[in-house]
Amino acid sequence: FEQYPVRFLWGAEEFASIPDGAVPEVAFLGRSNVGKSSILNALMASKGMARTSSKPGRTKQMNAFGVGGARLTLLDMPGYGHGSRHSWGREIMEYLRSRKQFRRAFLLIDPIHGFKEVDMMIMEAFVDMGIPYQLVLSKTDKLEEPKKKKDRLATPHINEVFMDVQGVMRDYGGHSGFGEILATSSEPVKKGINELRWAILRATGL
Ligand code: GDP
Repeated sequence: FEQYPVRFLWGAEEFASIPDGAVPEVAFLGRSNVGKSSILNALMASKGMARTSSKPGRTKQMNAFGVGGARLTLLDMPGYGHGSRHSWGREIMEYLRSRKQFRRAFLLIDPIHGFKEVDMMIMEAFVDMGIPYQLVLSKTDKLEEPKKKKDRLATPHINEVFMDVQGVMRDYGGHSGFGEILATSSEPVKKGINELRWAILRATGL
């Protein structure tokens, strides 16, 4: 990843207009503010790549980034929640279901906020439609080192969070959910980014 150039490939509001191709794709999904741009930037070792894409006008579209020339495509899906378009889910699920070169969806969960109803709906849709996916915890630095003393009581321990997430996977994971849950943070220090890269490489067979 790091030694290969990354470039912005395309952005598409209307999924029908997305150019076809054979390059393997993995997609990143999550509620707005989950830390998706930060994880993508960390993955691509590029400070502004994904953030540029969240300029007004680009937040509601799917953006594609090419890694290593034409070896791999990372798809930054529009964040859901907070006034996203009503048709969001249906269009995205249909894209993931029908796209031949699509390999795996990474669903980001902020462990401080936990699963919301919309996350559960996404997971159920993945399972119903047979879309392969894996859970990624974002911002796990917040679990380990709550800055303020008063937050310490309210901050769950990472092991508890893992137990909860594993429970959710048992109940909702279905046949398309990968059992392995990845713990990451993008700031103040990067953690789990290489593990996520390995998961992407395994998913795409690269
Ligand atoms: P997006 O809306 O999902 O793309 O989220 P962003 O990547 O823009 O991040 C949302 C907010 O969370 C920003 O204020 C980030 O600085 C913060 N953030 C993102 N990743 C982390 C992380 O790993 N740890 C902490 N503590 N904050 C993070």
